[in-house]
Amino acid sequence: MESRKVYLDNSATTIVNPEVIKEMHPYFGDIYGNASSFHYFGRQSKIAIDNARMKVALLLNATPEEIFFTGSGTESDNIAIFGTLRAYEKKGHIITSKIEHHAVLYSCKHLEKVGYEVTYLDVDKNGVIPITCLRKSIRENTLLVSIMHANNEVGTIQPIGEIATELEKINEKRQNKIYFHTDAVQTAGKLDLDVKKLGVDLLTISAHKFNGPKGVGILYIKKGTNISSIMYGGHHEKGLRPGTENVAYIVGLAKAFEISNVRMEESNNHVLLLKEKLKNGILDKVPEVVVNGSGNKAVCNILNVSFKYIEGESLLLMLDINGIAVSTGSACASGSLGASHVLSAMGVEPVAAQGAIRFSFGHYNTLKDVDYVLEVLPKVVNNLRIMSPVWNKKFEKNH
Ligand code: PLP
Repeated sequence: MESRKVYLDNSATTIVNPEVIKEMHPYFGDIYGNASSFHYFGRQSKIAIDNARMKVALLLNATPEEIFFTGSGTESDNIAIFGTLRAYEKKGHIITSKIEHHAVLYSCKHLEKVGYEVTYLDVDKNGVIPITCLRKSIRENTLLVSIMHANNEVGTIQPIGEIATELEKINEKRQNKIYFHTDAVQTAGKLDLDVKKLGVDLLTISAHKFNGPKGVGILYIKKGTNISSIMYGGHHEKGLRPGTENVAYIVGLAKAFEISNVRMEESNNHVLLLKEKLKNGILDKVPEVVVNGSGNKAVCNILNVSFKYIEGESLLLMLDINGIAVSTGSACASGSLGASHVLSAMGVEPVAAQGAIRFSFGHYNTLKDVDYVLEVLPKVVNNLRIMSPVWNKKFEKNH
């Protein structure tokens, strides 16, 4: 069998685009000034950050003053949640969903421990939050709603615009505004993130999901949003994210975001073609599989499939031996066994949830990658099922 390496874990992270590396390169060498220094060296770095901020603002239909550079998507989520809550005098109520990334979910769990009330909204079988549930969960003391734009395990897109419209109506009748944050880490570079159209107050992005460097993110904060710092130090990023700016990474983020927006349609079409080919191939060649997620309402690059009666982790390992990189859930959760919180919330039956695999495509994947997976995967699944007592029991029963 041909031996090759196929990377289908682009929702965990992506390769850095060579054009982005080229753009970042001078900031590891000649241009090294501290952006806070007033001399020539500092000014060069400051100009680079200002330009990057302008680029990002333009792509989000925001103003440069509304763009804050952070150290990651996780950090942006934390600043958005803890920062807005800190600005309120009293503790209160937060609404989020059961399928958020742990950066949001664990922040909310911590807030519960320190006296906040949290509603974790249910999702339907496709992973979508029904607006009526959100409406019903609003309380007098609700301070913040944090709902992700697209889920990182199944790709389901939430109706962010509709939620924003609903909150706007509710806010008109209230004294204290309910802020709306969305984690758009999985949609940046794949969907239009016009913050005006989305209607959000805060929005999180991370560069390494769209062929930018790891360890740099954005937090969009709408002008007028009441937010306090959760870190202390210098005046950087208006004191919200103190610490000497990582100029090279900020420049890389802006370049990667620009490229991914320019080629969005072409890239989405390419990736969707690969995803459909793999999905249809799996459905054709492998029995007892379930596709998790909501079809048209999902980002084009994520395909989550349950291979019933086997463990997702075993399948992941066998695919890895064959050079194929996939994931069983979010990269951060994949160290822990047990069904994914996302699939559980969607009501996926345990026998299917345990055998779930996320294939996530990127701009650089090819049809040959899919052909290779379709050559290897059915054999690997078959071998694992032969060893599975549950499968064998079912096999005996049926024959
Ligand atoms: N939010 C979502 C939806 C994600 O998928 C991820 C990363 O997997 C994060 C947040 C965290 O981003 P980062 O890795 O930049 O901390």
